[in-house]
Amino acid sequence: MISKPPEREKLSKDQALYVFKPEAKGRYQCDQCWMWQPTTERCSAHGKNDRILGTASCGYWMWGKPGTGPSPQGSLTKLESGYTENPNGEPFGCHRCEEFDGKSKCEIVSGYIQAMGCCSAWKPIDQPEWEDDED
Ligand code: SF4
Ligand code: SF4
Repeated sequence: MISKPPEREKLSKDQALYVFKPEAKGRYQCDQCWMWQPTTERCSAHGKNDRILGTASCGYWMWGKPGTGPSPQGSLTKLESGYTENPNGEPFGCHRCEEFDGKSKCEIVSGYIQAMGCCSAWKPIDQPEWEDDED
C-alpha cells in the first residue's frame, strides 16, 4: 500500500518574519516604516544610491513615522532585505497574498494568520507561474 506523502512542512512565524500590526491597517509598505525617507526615496538600512519606493516593502519593515531614521547606512542590499515592489501596485498584507485562505490559514506559514498581517514570503495574488521559477 502506498502511503500518503507528508504534507509540506510550513515555516514558523519567526522564520517567515511574520508581523501583525493593527495600526498598519494591512498596508505593510515603506511609507509606513520609520526607516523610509520620503523626500529622497531612500531607506536608513539600504545604500545611499538605492531608490526605495514608498509602495515597496522588505523583510525588515517596522511600523513608525517615516523620515525619523538616520541617513542611509548601507547595512543591507535589496537582495539581502528581500526588497519587493508589488507588481499589482497595491499594498502588501495577507489579505492580498496568494497563500492566504481568506480566513485564518496560510499555505506556507503555520499557525493562526491574521488577514491584516504580513510576512517576508508574501506573494501577489494571480502571480504567473513562470515568476515562481528560481532558475
Ligand atoms: S526597504 Fe524595508 S526597512 Fe527600508 S523603508 Fe522599506 S520596509 Fe522599511
Ligand atoms: S498569507 Fe502570505 S503574507 Fe501572510 S503569512 Fe502567508 S505567505 Fe506570509
